[in-house]
Amino acid sequence: MAELPRYDPYINGANVAPKSNEYFATINPYTSKPWAEVARCNAEDADAAIAAAYTAFTTGQWPALTATARGALLHRLGDLIADNADELAALEVRDNGKLISEMAAQCHYIPQWYYYFGGLADKIEGAVIPSDKPEIFNYTRHEPLGVVVAITPWNSPLMLLSFKLAPALAAGNTVVIKPSEFTSTSTLTLVKLFAEAGFPPGVVNVVTGFGAEVGAALVAHPKTAKIAFTGGSDSGARVYTAAAAGLKQCTLELGGKSPNIVFDDANLDDAVKGAISGIFAATGQTCIAGSRLLVQNRIYTEFVDQLVAFARTARMGDPMDRDTQVGPVTTPPQYEKILQYIQIAKDEGAEVLLGGGPAVDRPECGDSQYFIEPTIFGGVTNDMRIAQEEVFGPVLSIIRFDDDAEAVAIANDIEFGLAAGIWTQSINRAIKISNAIRAGTIWVNTYRAVSFLSPFGGYKKSGLGRENGIEAIREYLQTKSVWISTATDVPNPFVMR
Ligand code: NAD
Repeated sequence: MAELPRYDPYINGANVAPKSNEYFATINPYTSKPWAEVARCNAEDADAAIAAAYTAFTTGQWPALTATARGALLHRLGDLIADNADELAALEVRDNGKLISEMAAQCHYIPQWYYYFGGLADKIEGAVIPSDKPEIFNYTRHEPLGVVVAITPWNSPLMLLSFKLAPALAAGNTVVIKPSEFTSTSTLTLVKLFAEAGFPPGVVNVVTGFGAEVGAALVAHPKTAKIAFTGGSDSGARVYTAAAAGLKQCTLELGGKSPNIVFDDANLDDAVKGAISGIFAATGQTCIAGSRLLVQNRIYTEFVDQLVAFARTARMGDPMDRDTQVGPVTTPPQYEKILQYIQIAKDEGAEVLLGGGPAVDRPECGDSQYFIEPTIFGGVTNDMRIAQEEVFGPVLSIIRFDDDAEAVAIANDIEFGLAAGIWTQSINRAIKISNAIRAGTIWVNTYRAVSFLSPFGGYKKSGLGRENGIEAIREYLQTKSVWISTATDVPNPFVMR
């Protein structure tokens, strides 16, 4: 058998062998076959990467650059990513099986993060404080934190990385990245562009491997100043606990179980498309999936019939084919988890309206062992596990409601608060319901819109802090207050000034 290409960690501007000398296979979910090998890094590699990032933060060219020069580097990087977007997108599809139409669109959009935060780099202004003390000049500076550890999941590896990397670098930090063990190759290809853009070695480093091994070592490292994490809520809680032990800052973007609410005055054709895009786009493997569909009783039958008929036409197939609408799920454990949840829903008494099982051994699914039928459950009540727990797959639960108050009560009766959709033609209703729902993003008559310009993050167990938009850069800065005496003598040293 031909040897598989190997992907090594990237530390201090070069690919190096992992200290363990061990590699693990990365699998193409459409062929179910390994296509590359990725280094299994351990605590020693974590140490080396953090040391490189710490040195780059404290000495050499990076801290000496002006903010304008940092911004120019980010701009150049954005151009290089645009030039390489198709290659990066194809790697993402090979690793995570998501549609090329989605991953290519993301990779062509990603440069905007580097342009936007590059532009912001030299607009981070401190303030002159109007001092209440005579003969004191007091001003503030916003300074970088130090070494940032960026930990990413498998569903949109480069986009979720860019949410972190662009503001962290614009603010002057250095970074060690730990991509998901299922999708490391696009990140290792992206970082090569940093040297080409002119970033000094050590400013951006990548170690690969497993969360509990190299991920935990990065979080616990005494020289790590901040962790920017996207992943599941259980892993997020572990990372937060470890960060707390070292008194480190943390941004957490976690799971969701977002309500997508269809009111009786909605344009039903649009709402059907909104429900489909909320759950079957990305095979449901998105934190913002509208996996709880709340439908008002008066239109329930008409709407659900239309929805099921539309979903039935979704084309499964090769994710590299631009006509495919639903691809395989990304990982074997995820495949098993989704099937378990389908069984849980059936056992709980939910009614299968569409799908409800694996979709292997079909010609359009190739050799993949990881296809699951787009699945819709009716007769779901909000107390069922299928309504409360994140499935992260193409599984939709439909819940009925009578009026606005009940819709809000059901939408909020959950531990997550990442996003919500509202379908109505009444502007009053849209505003009232948007205000009442406890979630970080609300979409009205649309779904899954995300931009570098707009803050993104979760309420409740969906996370801490915000990514994107101006406020994201503050997550990577700390404020210093500088006091300068203009007095000609030093007053009584035994009394506080
Ligand atoms: P995961 O939590 O299993 O892994 C995420 C990353 O964390 C991986 O790189 C993993 O290796 C690492 N990790 C795991 N345990 C760790 C530990 N103890 N210390 C350090 N690192 C550790 O998540 P996943 O299965 O890769 O991704 C799916 C999850 O991510 C879903 O729950 C989804 O909702 C969530 N997600 C959230 C957002 C968001 O922005 N809110 C976006 C995408 C995905």
